[in-house]
Amino acid sequence: MTTLTDTGRAHLTSTLDQREQVLRDEIRAGLTRMRVEGYEDLLSGASDAGDESLASLITDITNAEVVRDATELKDIFAAKARLAASTYGVCVDCDAPIPYARLVAYPTAKRCLACQQAHEEKRNPARRS
Ligand SMILES: [Zn+2]
Repeated sequence: MTTLTDTGRAHLTSTLDQREQVLRDEIRAGLTRMRVEGYEDLLSGASDAGDESLASLITDITNAEVVRDATELKDIFAAKARLAASTYGVCVDCDAPIPYARLVAYPTAKRCLACQQAHEEKRNPARRS
């Protein structure tokens, strides 16, 4: 079970909502930038191979930003689904309540700290320190 109070839950919900709005704006801006920077030279007729490589490089960078934002947005949607299903704030691995302080720092956290560390070590065994 979760130890979240109604106040804590309301606070985290509004934190998630605000972050979702920021990400939506960033993704929209990123997509707009991609269109402009990717096609500007081609449209102006000033394109040569060098410009095209540059445009494609910029598009790749913007894509990485958009992908990162979209991944975070997906985490927010998942957190909101857990809120709706009343499974928010409970570790998906060990069913222990995730401490409120951790949720404030990482509102999309789906694991307690111990399970998160174990999960990351499993995924990146070479980076264990
Ligand atoms: Zn856990």
